[in-house]
Amino acid sequence: MSISKANNHSKDLIEKAVAGHDLTRDDIVQLLSLVGKDAEILLAAADTVRKQYVGDEVYLRGIIEFSNYCERNCLYCGLRTGNSKLRHYRMTEDDIIATAKQVKKMQVPTVVLQSGEDSFFTTAIICRIIQRIRKETGLIITLSIGERSYEDYQAFKKAGADRYLLKHETASAELFQQMRPGCKLESRVQCLQWLKELGFEVGTGNMVGLPKQTRETLADDLLFMKDMDADMLGIGPYIAHPETPLAASPNGDVELTLKVLAIARLITRNANIPATTALGTLDPEGRLKALQAGANVVMPDFTPLKYKNLYDIYPGRTDVGSPADIIAKLKNDLASIGRTILFGDGYRPGKTINSQTNI
Ligand code: SAH
Ligand code: SF4
Repeated sequence: MSISKANNHSKDLIEKAVAGHDLTRDDIVQLLSLVGKDAEILLAAADTVRKQYVGDEVYLRGIIEFSNYCERNCLYCGLRTGNSKLRHYRMTEDDIIATAKQVKKMQVPTVVLQSGEDSFFTTAIICRIIQRIRKETGLIITLSIGERSYEDYQAFKKAGADRYLLKHETASAELFQQMRPGCKLESRVQCLQWLKELGFEVGTGNMVGLPKQTRETLADDLLFMKDMDADMLGIGPYIAHPETPLAASPNGDVELTLKVLAIARLITRNANIPATTALGTLDPEGRLKALQAGANVVMPDFTPLKYKNLYDIYPGRTDVGSPADIIAKLKNDLASIGRTILFGDGYRPGKTINSQTNI
């Protein structure tokens, strides 16, 4: 759909965004308010900028959810300590390595190790896992294990981890504190800064649809993502989990999430933006819609089947079947929208990488 079909004011704003001019908080709020044809035009504009900056190939990251123990009590998440109904698991080191080998076998170049904040996995254990994965598979390693100390992050980098995902979740300090008891936005941002300083490729991002969130809060999320100059941006809808205090809070809106994602693409240009599992959970076409609204990454889930259902952050997560089935389905889905899989490194395009570990 062409920009010329949008109404005049929306057209000017979308053109400003496509041209790469800075958007104000108010501009972003207005873009988030677009509906119908105008919203479609916004998503299509992000798709064009995606094509221009990161191309048609979709980058893959294979995710392994290695522990569902978490010492935090985030109000939105099914892994919170307060959820006494959760059946717990921890993968053994050997299990994690064997699963990483599956990722390698499917020619996916990056593995993402994700878990709750689980101190059973000490710095030494995580470092040993990183070293073994590097040695035994050569995969690029992304960690997503929450807030740790500077020294921990330094040790992870030294052991061979390359990337770190730590979503800021919401740029409202007040909402952040309400949603994550005992945590502060300030500390999370400090962690992101340390990770950048240490030379990690850093991913951040938010949830769309948290209670009390407004379009202004979402605009602040987007401005934060731009300021952070993050390499990856995870943007997904909030999904209500029945065993949490937010059980009655409605799920995030798919259309609004797509608009947030599209604006993220327009303002950051070359960031790697996944079509999140959460979008695919709320809408069977969610991932494909995201890939046509600015996203360029998919993170297939390689967690062994016996654990997958127990990693119950939110209900209804998809990606069932063996790794081979998942990749085959993905190839088909991508072909239907004229996209292909990149079995390459998937570093943020146009960014100079300074590292001895990135082979
Ligand atoms: N413990 C780590 C990583 C695991 S949680 C951490 O919190 O960073 C990974 C992501 O799951 C979080 O960043 C959050 O954005 C998302 N998440 C948690 N609960 C969710 C829910 N109910 N709906 C949608 N996303 C959720
Ligand atoms: Fe733990 Fe992360 Fe869930 Fe919070 S979002 S309870 S830190 S797994």
